[in-house]
Amino acid sequence: MAEVFTHTVQSDTFTGTLSVPTGLFIDGEFVESATRAVIELHNPSDGSFITKVSLAGKKDIDAAVDSAERAFERSWGTNVSAPARGRLLAKLADLVEQSIDDFAALEALNAGRNFLHARGHDILDVISTLRYYAGWADKHFGQTIETADSRFAYTRHEPIGVCGIIVPWNFPLILAVWSIAPALATGNAVVLKPSELTPLTALKLASLVRAAGFPPGAFNVVQGYGAVAGEALSAHMRVRKIAFTGSTAVGRRIMELAARSNLKRVTLELGGKSPAIVFDDADVESAVAEILKGMFTRSGQFCAAGTRIYVQEGIYDTLVPLLVHAAQSIPLGSGFEADIAAGPLISQTQLDRVLGYIEAGKGAGATLLTGGTRLDRPGYFVAPTLFGDVPQDASILREEIFGPVGVVVKFNTESEALRLANESTYGLVGHVYTQSVDRALRVTRRLQAGSAFVNMFAFLDPHVPFGGVKQSGFGRQLGQKALDEYTVLKAVHIRVLENARL
Ligand code: NAD
Repeated sequence: MAEVFTHTVQSDTFTGTLSVPTGLFIDGEFVESATRAVIELHNPSDGSFITKVSLAGKKDIDAAVDSAERAFERSWGTNVSAPARGRLLAKLADLVEQSIDDFAALEALNAGRNFLHARGHDILDVISTLRYYAGWADKHFGQTIETADSRFAYTRHEPIGVCGIIVPWNFPLILAVWSIAPALATGNAVVLKPSELTPLTALKLASLVRAAGFPPGAFNVVQGYGAVAGEALSAHMRVRKIAFTGSTAVGRRIMELAARSNLKRVTLELGGKSPAIVFDDADVESAVAEILKGMFTRSGQFCAAGTRIYVQEGIYDTLVPLLVHAAQSIPLGSGFEADIAAGPLISQTQLDRVLGYIEAGKGAGATLLTGGTRLDRPGYFVAPTLFGDVPQDASILREEIFGPVGVVVKFNTESEALRLANESTYGLVGHVYTQSVDRALRVTRRLQAGSAFVNMFAFLDPHVPFGGVKQSGFGRQLGQKALDEYTVLKAVHIRVLENARL
């Protein structure tokens, strides 16, 4: 039996006592890991210790997969009808809604996400995603197909089995629920491995899964290191699918493990280095506001961040000073402060990585337009940073930084902008700022990206599919499309006997 962590917060935005089990959630119970290993969690806003939670090793992954497989074969996958699955997901959404403040506060404490942003966006998104897929649970059915005389066929969308879901730390609960909700709606059993840095909201969700009445084993949570728990899950012979959200390097490794083990299915939601193209005819004020949100939301720890800003010659001298001024005015602060636009980086490691890129940018001869420094306060804060005059081969222009660092580049023609924007190994999203419908249609068609946003930053919506091309991954989350990612299509052929005795 694992311990429960309780913590009282008194702040401008939230006051209350949080309580979360700290074990692994396996077979409907919170348990310690087989080796009793634990990991310490820290608050990125000030570096302070939060609590210890159990840390899954290979034996724990085996136990979670056993439990999920049992549930898939004996209860969840066989005795719970599609409408009943929908009702359970809807009930879970109601329970999350009743605890919305606690979930938002846990994201603020553990992930450094601003409480008001988490409450006003992230957790609302979690609730609507659960409700959206609750609605789909009994509507993802197949076709009846006429074949030859006295024969017909029909198709069924069947669950895959045990699905491993591995997610990162930047939006811990949303990214988990984007995969959990369609997986459970379609009848799969889930083993979730949250990031070792930010497991608290997944554990809180697990306690509500139990309260909602899901059978034991339908949903398990095994926080642990990627190299141990993540690899054990990805290589497991009885896991039939891995849905991975994270970096391209780890995505490549997961595909390797899937191929070498049981050829399990894989979907990969990976990194990006997304472009924003601003044409001369853009609405300047609105473009500046959206570009800024696209670059500095979550201090750039955002897979769809638009951090390569291509600005057309005629507007460059107007837009860039406005961007610099607006970036300098972004209020940074801790997870529980009010009136904050961006918060800390997740860890010392991430801070060092981001500062390393900033030094590399300076070293490559780029001009630092603003920012470039760590804030003189506890926690891992970096000032919103913009570079100009960036050499085409500089790492700050080509590699995903996952921090508050953007680059601005001048272009002349539409085709030049498209060539520069598409010159990337990534292809997650692209942004276009223009008031011309023709141009918006032309440019979005030619952008090499899974999603394109016109006159807005990448604000994702559970109803609309999302995913990458090129090295940003494959498969789609969200929308109706995600249901196909968690089901296999079976065709059943029937011959109708003509000489039945009447
Ligand atoms: P990461 O790839 O290091 O880790 C992601 C998850 O994978 C974590 O749970 C980690 O423990 C696990 N992991 C690490 N090594 C593993 C291994 N060898 N085998 C199995 N699992 C392993 O990424 P991160 O630093 O946590 O997150 C940042 C990255 O995530 C960025 O590249 C970002 O673009 C990407 N991301 C993508 C999306 C998207 O929807 N495309 C969304 C959010 C974040």
